Amino acid sequence: MAQRIVIVGGAIMGSSLAWWLTELGHPPGKITVVERDPTYAECATAFSNSCIRQQFSNPLNIAVSQFGVECIRSFGALMGDARVPPIQFDTFGYLYLADTPARAEALRRAQAVQVAAGARTRLLERDALADAFPFYALDDILLGSHGQDEGYFDGTTMFEWWRRCARERGVTYLAETVTGIDTGGGRARGVTLASGDRLAADAVVNVAGTRGASVARMAGLDLPVEPRKRYTWVFEAARPLDRPLPLTIDPSGVHVRQDGALYMAGATPDDDPAVDPADFGGDWSIWEEKVWPALASRIPAFEEIRVRRSWVGHYDLNTLDRNAVVGAHRELPGFYTLNGFSGHGLQQAPAMGRGMAELLVHGRYRTLDLTPFSPDRIADGRAFAEAAVI
Ligand SMILES: Cc1cc2nc3c(=O)[nH]c(=O)nc-3n(C[C@H](O)[C@H](O)[C@H](O)COP(=O)(O)OP(=O)(O)OC[C@H]3O[C@@H](n4cnc5c(N)ncnc54)[C@H](O)[C@@H]3O)c2cc1C
Repeated sequence: MAQRIVIVGGAIMGSSLAWWLTELGHPPGKITVVERDPTYAECATAFSNSCIRQQFSNPLNIAVSQFGVECIRSFGALMGDARVPPIQFDTFGYLYLADTPARAEALRRAQAVQVAAGARTRLLERDALADAFPFYALDDILLGSHGQDEGYFDGTTMFEWWRRCARERGVTYLAETVTGIDTGGGRARGVTLASGDRLAADAVVNVAGTRGASVARMAGLDLPVEPRKRYTWVFEAARPLDRPLPLTIDPSGVHVRQDGALYMAGATPDDDPAVDPADFGGDWSIWEEKVWPALASRIPAFEEIRVRRSWVGHYDLNTLDRNAVVGAHRELPGFYTLNGFSGHGLQQAPAMGRGMAELLVHGRYRTLDLTPFSPDRIADGRAFAEAAVI
C-alpha cells in the first residue's frame, strides 16, 4: 500500500513537492499538505527577490539551477496543462565584481567550474566591463563575471500553479499548524495539529521554511537553520540607466538589479542575528549607512534616487554551510527535511521538489543525485562546499 505522506508547509517548496509526488504517480489521496497560514502572507516565498543564477561554485548547485531554467522555459509543457501561462524570465544576468586578487581568483575558479558544467558565464577585465556597462565606477575593480540564463523569473506564478494543480489532482491542503511529531516506536508516525487532531503518516516532510528548526525540534532533531532578516529596497533613479542593469553583486555585499522601470537593492546586514520569524521590523540605518552609499559610489547615476517601497523577509539560513538540507534523517526513519535554502530556494524549488518526490516514491534519486545535501552531513559536521553565497 502506498505510504501516507504529510508535508509540513505548503509554500513554493511544499507545493513543488506535492505536485511532483502526483506527477511521479503517488496517489494524491495519500498526500496531505499542512499549512499554518493559507494566505502565505509572511513566508519567505512571499518576500523573495525571485532571481535565478548559474554562478555557483559547486557543480551540483549549478545543475539544480540548470533544471530550474529548463522548468521556467517550458513550464506549461512540464505541467502538461494548456491553462498554465508562460513564466516571465528577464535574463539580465548576474554580475559579480572582484576588487582584490583573491576575489578575482575565486571568480576565475568558479567560472571554470561553471563552464565545465555547461553554464554560459564569461569573465570581463576592467576595460571590457567599462565597454559593456559604462555606468559603473570601476577604479577599484579587477574582474567581473557575468552569466547568461540568469535573472528575474516569476516564481509566484510557478508556486500558484503547482499548488492549484496539486489540489486539482486530489492533494489535501489543510489550514492547520503542526505542533508535534509522533515519534512512537522510534520512527515518524504522523503529526499533531493545533486543533488537537492527529494525522497518521508513514512519512513526514519538514518544509517549514524559516520555522524548519522548530518543526525538527518537535521530532527531537537539531537543524542548524535560523531565520535571518533580509531587507529589500525598490527605488526610482532620477537618471535611469541607458541599458539593463545586471544583478550586480558588489564587493561591499550590496546587490542591485533592474526591476522593470525601477531598481531593487539589498544587502546582508553587518549585524545578522537569528530573529523571530514573525519579526518584520525594518532598519533604515542599513539603507542610509550601507546600501545607498555603496550604490552611489558604484553607479554614480544612483546619487539621485528615491525609495518607492521596501520590505523585510527572512532567509532560512543553514549556519553550517548556507546550503539546502534535503533528505531522510538516519536518526528518525520516516522523517525527511527539505529546508535551509539560505536565500536560493525559489530557484531550487523545481529540482528539490522533484528530488524529494523521487526519494519518497522510488526510495532513491533518479535524476539529479541530491545525496550531498543530506541531513547526515549536519550530524557529521561535514559542510557542503559552495563559495558563492549571497
Ligand atoms: C528577501 C529575500 C530575497 C530572496 N531572494 C531570492 C532569490 O532571488 N532567488 C531565490 O532562489 N531565492 C530567494 N530567496 C529565498 C527563497 O524565497 C526561499 O528559499 C523560498 O521561498 C523558501 O520556500 P519554502 O517553501 O521552503 O519556505 P517558506 O516560503 O518560508 O514557506 C514555509 C511554509 O511553512 C509554513 N509553516 C511553518 N511552520 C509550520 C507549521 N508548524 N505547521 C504548518 N505550516 C508551517 C509557513 O506558514 C510557510 O507557508 C529570498 C528570500 C528572501 C527572504
